[in-house]
Amino acid sequence: MKNIIYADNAATAKLNKKAYEAMQCYLVEEYGNPSQAYSLSRSSKYALKYARETIAKCINAEPDEIYFTSGGTESDNWAIKGTALAFDRKKAVIASVIEHHAVLRSCEFIERIGYPVVYLGVTQEGIIKPEKLESVITDNTGLVSIMYANNEIGTIEPIKELVGISHKHGALFHTDAVQAIGHLAIDVKELGVDLLSASAHKFGGPKGIGFLYIKNGTDIVSYLNGGSQEHGLRAGTENVASIVGMSVALEESVTNISVGTSITELEKEFFNLLTVNGLEEGREYIRNGKKDAHLPGFINISFKDKDGEAIMHRLDLKGIMISTGAACDSVNTQVSHVIKAINVPSAFEKGTIRISLSKYNTIQDVKEIAQCLCSIIKKS
Ligand code: PLP
Repeated sequence: MKNIIYADNAATAKLNKKAYEAMQCYLVEEYGNPSQAYSLSRSSKYALKYARETIAKCINAEPDEIYFTSGGTESDNWAIKGTALAFDRKKAVIASVIEHHAVLRSCEFIERIGYPVVYLGVTQEGIIKPEKLESVITDNTGLVSIMYANNEIGTIEPIKELVGISHKHGALFHTDAVQAIGHLAIDVKELGVDLLSASAHKFGGPKGIGFLYIKNGTDIVSYLNGGSQEHGLRAGTENVASIVGMSVALEESVTNISVGTSITELEKEFFNLLTVNGLEEGREYIRNGKKDAHLPGFINISFKDKDGEAIMHRLDLKGIMISTGAACDSVNTQVSHVIKAINVPSAFEKGTIRISLSKYNTIQDVKEIAQCLCSIIKKS
């Protein structure tokens, strides 16, 4: 493969080498169905148990609170539809307007079948203010779903405070932690959340696998019906190799969580380089998200009178991979719902790009990205 600079880690991350190595034997040698009782299956059954325990330890949960799913989208769908279907249709669901489409579309679905749904607006930095939740929540709210950190602008939400308000009113709290887990230390007991969604490919695990944390005692209906896998709540033969890969990747990420500090340094250097190259914040570009509380390596900027799509393609020609927003929305060239929600001025909104750095990026990568970007902006 030709040399590229990959700076779209929020779309997906490179598979961790240890995760890849750990997965191999469950694809080729230890291929027994974990639900069978004979000796070939024992190893995959044990692998599932160990993976569940490892993942639970990484977020301070109990092993039987971890339910394997096919990824973030399924976890979000299950969390919202599964809890709503377990409570009365008169009860409301509250979500923010900047949630991932997996949450927003699930909310639209339950709205169509009769549940009231309330959408919370955000500040210009993409924060869901606790006062805002306090102003709309009632004792008739069944579920509040607020993401841990936004996938476009990286803003980290005040989850613990939002959980406190929700519980005071007897509502369950779900957080979509797909972008945060493995990058920020997460302790479900300390946060108090009832449900948390995660996806392996965002933290160095394989694609198509994830989990939903469901606090013991939470009322939720089964999402996939069939066999008795996942405590009878999510049927289907388990994707053993991917589950093993996910657990190894998560353990690796959590053990090396401090790497975030050096990624943040790269991010600072990037902005220094924009200044050195003559681009001024506020004049040529604006920086989106909360500067002092965002995911490490998340850079979301909007350039004045530019086209983010064109910038992305020009960088691609130079071997630099970045995006204009959420990966699942890359076919949709309109301004994203997140950029709209944070009120990016109209002269800037179309010129939005997202650069998401990882531990694999170097200072040299950042210099090249900044240099190419500045030259594209000046020439276009
Ligand atoms: N939630 C958020 C915040 C995401 O960023 C994504 C993926 O981009 C998802 C959910 C969906 O995850 P998956 O790709 O595993 O379905």
